[in-house]
Formats: sequence, structure tokens, C-alpha cells
Amino acid sequence: MQPLLVVIDERFTQHLDHVPHLENARRVKAMTSVLDNPSLDGKLSEVVPRLASLEELALVHTADHIERIAQTAGKSLTSLDLDTQTSEMSYDVARLCVGSVFSLLDEIMSGKARRGFACIRPPGHHAEPDRAMGFCLFNNVALGARYLKEHYSVERVMIVDMDVHHGNGTQIAFYDMDEALFISLHQFPFYPGTGNFGEVGRGKGEGFTINVPLGKGHGDRDFAGIIHFLLNPLARSYHPDIILVSCGFDLYMYDRLGGMNVTPEGYALMTFFLLDIAEKVCDGRIAFIMEGGYSLKGIRECGLRVIKELCDVPTLSRKKIDKIIGNSARRLPAIEKVIEIQKEYWKILR
Ligand SMILES: [Zn+2]
Repeated sequence: MQPLLVVIDERFTQHLDHVPHLENARRVKAMTSVLDNPSLDGKLSEVVPRLASLEELALVHTADHIERIAQTAGKSLTSLDLDTQTSEMSYDVARLCVGSVFSLLDEIMSGKARRGFACIRPPGHHAEPDRAMGFCLFNNVALGARYLKEHYSVERVMIVDMDVHHGNGTQIAFYDMDEALFISLHQFPFYPGTGNFGEVGRGKGEGFTINVPLGKGHGDRDFAGIIHFLLNPLARSYHPDIILVSCGFDLYMYDRLGGMNVTPEGYALMTFFLLDIAEKVCDGRIAFIMEGGYSLKGIRECGLRVIKELCDVPTLSRKKIDKIIGNSARRLPAIEKVIEIQKEYWKILR
């Protein structure tokens, strides 16, 4: 059994360390406590993160944006927008987040292990090529996908964004190109306002952006069902070399920002079905990258279930899994709407 590669670093607590904020250091400390769980003894392999270079940040971001964030270094408080602040160390911490993803992907591509989880903050999926927003400075997952292309000539990356908010930054980074298949499940209408069905990509990128906007209140069966009934055929058709997961814990039923109804068991189910897809289409290569999640209890409980699934510590009964497979989630209106729109690009959905 291969270990699960994990990145965690004390330095992730240094971003906004003295600024009261929903996206605070306690979130990454909650993940530290998850990784210390005795059930995971001997199953984890820690990856040492590095700082991403300026050239590497430019794989996604404009020089102006990088410079704007660099200018915040050493300053006790800078506001980039209403939600997004930085403190003295934020620039370095944000570069360390990106470097963490790179280090994790290096180890996966070297064959050391096939699965990884990066416990990082600040999150990244709202960061656009030319601006910070929604607590995000640099787009960790989009940079990871570009890095794979640059360094390993990976041709097809599938990005699954399972945060309650739409991953607008990741969408924009790949909107008019076919080098990644971006799929986002999120609450809609909701922050940041993007992510409706009709946003499918542009030009060469048409059909490579797939949005599954959902009204509030969706729960375990819906999310697991979407992964099983919709992402599964798309992955088999696209045939990615690796899957990157933007993993937010704000689908959790008691999250302070989100309005979804997902339990820790739902996170285990989503992970189970994502692993099932990865095993079938890309030799099991999959990297989870932490995004949002604003209930510490939610991070601890959902995080533990995700990590346990990634470590093959069984937590789900066959009955639970069969219930999803035999379930009517495939008839969820959102799935039907996505199929209606995307079947033009994906024969497998017809
Ligand atoms: Zn979020």
C-alpha cells in the first residue's frame, strides 16, 4: 500500500496571523489535528514544500498582479478587495502554497505515490490571472495544472472544484483553451456570481468548462451522484493524465458561508467516487488541494473522512455506496441540464 502524500507546514499560519478573519490559521491547524489521528499512523508521507518562483507564478498570473501581491510583503495590513486582506508574511505564504502544490505533484509524477493532499492556506480558486479576490491571492490549482504541462508534458488535466463557491479564477485561467477540463459543483446564485450552465468555455476551450450550479440545500446523495453519474463518463471520455481536486469544506451542512447540506459521510462518498474514477482513467493519480471551509468542526470531521478514504481506511459500507449507484440522483435536474448543454461537446453524454 502506497502512503498518502501530504503537505502541511507551520508557516501557513503566518498569513493574517494578527488579523481577525474567517479564513484564519485555525483552519490549517484543524487539518493538522486530522493528520495526527491515530487511525492514520504509518499511512502518510510528508512532502517538504518550497516557494514558487516569480517565473512559476507567471504561468497563470500577470506581472502586474504578482507585483501587487509582492508589494504587500512586510506591511501589517493591505486590503486587496472587501474580503481579501494580507499581512506581513502573506506574499511568502501564498508562494509557499503554490510551491506546495508543485512539490506534491513532483512526487506524484515521480511515482513515489499516486495520491496527495495539500493542506494549505490561503486558498486559490477565486484568484484570477490579474486579480486577488475571495480570500485568494494566487490560484494554486490552476498553477498546478500549468506546472504539469510545463515540466511533465502532461496533456490532459481534469480539475474538479468541489467548493460551495464557483472557482471563477480557475475557470478564467483555462476558459479559451483545451489544456484542462474544468468541472465545478457549486451553489448558485451565490458568490462570486459566475458558474451558470451556459458558461462552457470559448473558442478552443468550448466544452472544456463544465458548470453544475445548484440551489442551496443539496446533500450527500446529490453530490456523490453528480460525481458518479456525470463526472465518471466525462472522465472516461476525456481520459486525463491526472485529476486535481479543488477541495473546499464549505459544502458542510453547518458551514458559516455555504448553504449546502453535506455531512462528513458525504465527503467520504465524494472522495470514494473520485478515487474510483482516478483508478479507472489515470492510474489512480489524484491530488486534493484545500480551498475554503469556515466551520472548524466541518474541516476536522469532513477532512478526516476525506483523508481516511485517500488512505484506504474504510469508513463506508457497501450498502451506502450501492445506494448512491442505484439512486435516482442521475435524474437530478441539474445533471439533466448539464447533459442537455454539454452533449454537443461530449458524445458520451448523448
Ligand atoms: Zn468556498
